[in-house]
Amino acid sequence: MPEEILEKVYSPEKVEEKWIAFWERAGLFHASAPSDRSSFSMVIPPPNVTGSLHVGHALNNTLQDILARWRRMSGFNVLWVPGTDHAGIATQNVVERQLAKEGKDRRTLGREAFIEKVWEWKATSGGTIQKQLKRLGASCDWDRERFTMDEGLSRAVGEVFVRLYREGLIYRAERLINWCPRCQTALSDIEVEYEEVPGKMYHIRYPVVVREDDEPEYLIVATTRPETLLGDTAVAVHPDDPRYNRFIGRKVSLPLTQRAIPIVGDPILVDREFGTGAVKITPGHDFNDEAAGKRHQLATISLLDPEGRLSRSALSEKAEADPSLIPELSGKGVAEARKRVVQRLEEKGLLIKTEDHRHAIGKCYRCKTVIEPFQSPQWFVKVNDPENSLAGPAIDAVRRKKIRLIPESWETNYFGWMENIQDWCISRQIWWGHRIPVWYCVGTDVGQCRLECKEPIVAATPPEKCPHCGSADLRQDPDVLDTWFSSALWPFSTLGWPPERQPNRADRAEAEQLLKTFYPTDTLVSGFDILFFWVARMIMMGIHFMKEVPFREVYIHALVRDAEGQKMSKSKGNVIDPLEIMNQYGTDALRFTLASMASPGRDIKLAEERIEGYRNFTNKLWNAARFILMNLPEDFKEINLPPDDDQLSAADQWIKIRFQRTIVSVDEALKNYRFDEASALLYRFIWHEFCDWYLEFIKVDLQEKSDAQKQGTYYTLTTTFEQILRLLHPFMPFITEELWCYFPHEGKSLTVAPYPKSDQEYSIENGAFENIVQEILIDTIVGIRNLRGEMNIPPSEELRVTISVRNQNGDELVRKYLPYIKRLARVSLEDIGQNLKQPKTAATVSTEWFKIYVSLDEKHVKKEIERLEKAIAKVEKEFEGVNKKFMNPKFTLNAPKDVVNKNEVQRSELSEKIYKLNADLHLFRTRLSEQKDSS
Ligand SMILES: [Zn+2]
Ligand SMILES: [Zn+2]
Repeated sequence: MPEEILEKVYSPEKVEEKWIAFWERAGLFHASAPSDRSSFSMVIPPPNVTGSLHVGHALNNTLQDILARWRRMSGFNVLWVPGTDHAGIATQNVVERQLAKEGKDRRTLGREAFIEKVWEWKATSGGTIQKQLKRLGASCDWDRERFTMDEGLSRAVGEVFVRLYREGLIYRAERLINWCPRCQTALSDIEVEYEEVPGKMYHIRYPVVVREDDEPEYLIVATTRPETLLGDTAVAVHPDDPRYNRFIGRKVSLPLTQRAIPIVGDPILVDREFGTGAVKITPGHDFNDEAAGKRHQLATISLLDPEGRLSRSALSEKAEADPSLIPELSGKGVAEARKRVVQRLEEKGLLIKTEDHRHAIGKCYRCKTVIEPFQSPQWFVKVNDPENSLAGPAIDAVRRKKIRLIPESWETNYFGWMENIQDWCISRQIWWGHRIPVWYCVGTDVGQCRLECKEPIVAATPPEKCPHCGSADLRQDPDVLDTWFSSALWPFSTLGWPPERQPNRADRAEAEQLLKTFYPTDTLVSGFDILFFWVARMIMMGIHFMKEVPFREVYIHALVRDAEGQKMSKSKGNVIDPLEIMNQYGTDALRFTLASMASPGRDIKLAEERIEGYRNFTNKLWNAARFILMNLPEDFKEINLPPDDDQLSAADQWIKIRFQRTIVSVDEALKNYRFDEASALLYRFIWHEFCDWYLEFIKVDLQEKSDAQKQGTYYTLTTTFEQILRLLHPFMPFITEELWCYFPHEGKSLTVAPYPKSDQEYSIENGAFENIVQEILIDTIVGIRNLRGEMNIPPSEELRVTISVRNQNGDELVRKYLPYIKRLARVSLEDIGQNLKQPKTAATVSTEWFKIYVSLDEKHVKKEIERLEKAIAKVEKEFEGVNKKFMNPKFTLNAPKDVVNKNEVQRSELSEKIYKLNADLHLFRTRLSEQKDSS
């Protein structure tokens, strides 16, 4: 085949774009429904629509793509659903920043116009990550791309909300929630990130209310948030605490206010060992205090406004702060308020001491602002209804292995969280997202206000009028749903659920077919950071609405960190940008690196040298292809028939068996999600067996063999390489697809070529070749090469050897394979025969079948003497080490018997070794003197 067809150097940039376009044009990733093939389906963890590909996406999608391509080539009808998430808070922030640049803000724009702006933004800038995923080679069914806010998915969201509401599993309640004062919205518990920070602990005197003549008494309360004392409605002590229990039922005078608040006994809230043993209760600003407040029927004071500032009305009406304090505090942020409250306490002599204190504070996972507990009416999903639990069946599914978490160790975390799960706050006070499908009847304008009209109207489609009074004056709930509410439905909403709500018969039929064919999905590939945000909630929703788990297996991968194991972050400047890596080393090198590092565990340390190493691997593959093509005869394409076994050389037989072994192991590794092992197997086989040995062997074959036998080699060479491309394709789709074109093959694309299957029978019948080639050829050649290394003989210098075989069988084999040894070890033969004597000046390489005596000249002999001396010194030292133990009589008496035995064996082996080495040394010294004599 003419050389110029395949360029000298592999240039990924020329190849990758071409194949992305080809695959898409040919519709090779489109799944059919129905299909007579078995299906394999996955849904992509939808990246944020604002997102740009980071190395975590690259890992996550490389692993999914390996599975998709492997299953597709293995004959499955593969559906990999792509899509993006509308990412409520994140996207709203992006568009708000854009508006700010234009000097506008969303409130002046108004809700409708703002949402229009977001859709505009999505249309122009929202497609970045899809393009980047295509660049990564992601073989998604791009015709079936979804967006969590598209029409169909929004329908599913409405349907789920209404159904859960009717089942009593969605409710509205006024209670303390996590509030981000910057994003101006509620967050769910897991959207709060805790961080340990240095702070202060303030010890404050709360005067106990006493009769006029009594001695003054105090309770000391310690707190990190003194400004919240204005919201205190009680102080708690432990009922069994002898220091304080006499105070229970009495009152304290709350500092800086004119309020007397009760002292209660509460064994749940108070830990006697912690702090001062007296605890302030602020039900309006602390989750534990809220519960304590309920236990003791305390009032709740909400001190902060939605911006996180102290509100005047709360201060004056409920908190009854010292009137002189109100103008000083109202409208102030938390930090300022704290300063002033502390100052006042000091003035009044109520602050006893302040000490440094590290404590955890919660921050918004989107904007890192400190979260304030805030009381407000919100919507919740009830996850633990005793009659109709969402969490229970989700725990059960994992416990009964209907869903397997891989690695299994994640089950502990899963159960730990699910068994303590709290109701899920799903309303968000932002504009971008699925508007809560709830309307309230205003009704009064028609004078028909009824009691029922106070009930919200919950409906999947906007109601035209109030069902109770007929009024058309309806107001929709202003809130939107948590983004994770829609992504929890992703495995079935993307397939067209609920089919009965599709707009027409054709769509309905298609949705039914898709759900039937692809639900439950097979595998979910996810990072562990969204195990609770997303995976657990999909399990709850999938089981509840589909009566079937959403996926059978969840492969949970690690987080990618930098080479030192640090989390990548812009501020640290250690971010590895996958797009830059793809530009520099090619996409296949990046993919292979990520796959090879995907070991079970929590961290992947990504070093650029690794990527460089796998770039070299792509070059190795490319060069191998060029070598093969250059050595094929012009008319090779015509030869298609498998040759007879006698046309195959030992090398041909050997590589075929080694390849069979590799197929079996790669298949096993992929089935167990051991992407790291599969890549290591491929690398080792392709580089160290196919390139390093087989291609070297066949250089000899092509020189020495008859034309008929060469046909066997041509055939083995090309078919094995073509199969290597197939086996490697899921990991390195671009270079393999490119090279595949140059080799005889069937079909229009490697993406749909059959994945190699092992031929067990062949391996059993021809297994002998594996050992022969290993023992006769590889061990011998490696032995001679090592000898060269030890004696510093350059590879170019031809050595003379005498081969002494141990038996007749060995004699035949060596003669048969001698050409390989001669060429690859660069030796010429002096003599060959059974049990030949060692020539006087020769070094020995021993193998299973024979001894090779390498003739040495004076300079070689001197080197060999040096080598032997060093070797003797080393072994003697080892011997000393073992022998010392026996010098101590306690050792033989007290040490366990097997340890003593082991040491004894070791000692005698070492002494034997020393004896032999000394004999060799003696021999060489004699040789050296003889050589000197004879010259
Ligand atoms: Zn925030
Ligand atoms: Zn009404």
